[in-house]
Amino acid sequence: MTSDCIFCKIAAGEMDSTMVFEDERCVAFEDLNPQAPTHILIIPKEHISSMDEAESNHSELLGHLLLTGAKIARERGFAGRGYRTVINTNSAGGQTVFHLHVHLLGGRQFVFPPG
Ligand code: AMP
Ligand code: ZN
Repeated sequence: MTSDCIFCKIAAGEMDSTMVFEDERCVAFEDLNPQAPTHILIIPKEHISSMDEAESNHSELLGHLLLTGAKIARERGFAGRGYRTVINTNSAGGQTVFHLHVHLLGGRQFVFPPG
């Protein structure tokens, strides 16, 4: 837990969020500023600032975040139609909160490349 990190506070239940999933390694909650009908953030309970700080010992955890997103997408019923998972990294990647998170976006058509 990093004391000034809002996502650490959400993971610890010290800050309000609309939680959609929790297990021993991660939590998932609704994004405050949704960019699609479903916009969920999946974060590790362990504080990792960004993909730029991730190490080989995080391999299993990173896979777990992606698989958690896939599970939520199936449960919400839009997996078959399709959805997008996004990890923004550092400033040019559009990252604004420096606790690694996977965006799960679903319920509309997406285009590529993203902006
Ligand atoms: P990124 O730009 O990839 O770092 O994404 C950060 C995301 O966190 C944005 O989509 C924000 O809308 C979202 N966000 C920031 N603060 C909160 C919060 N307290 N609860 C839920 N989502 C948040
Ligand atoms: Zn954190």
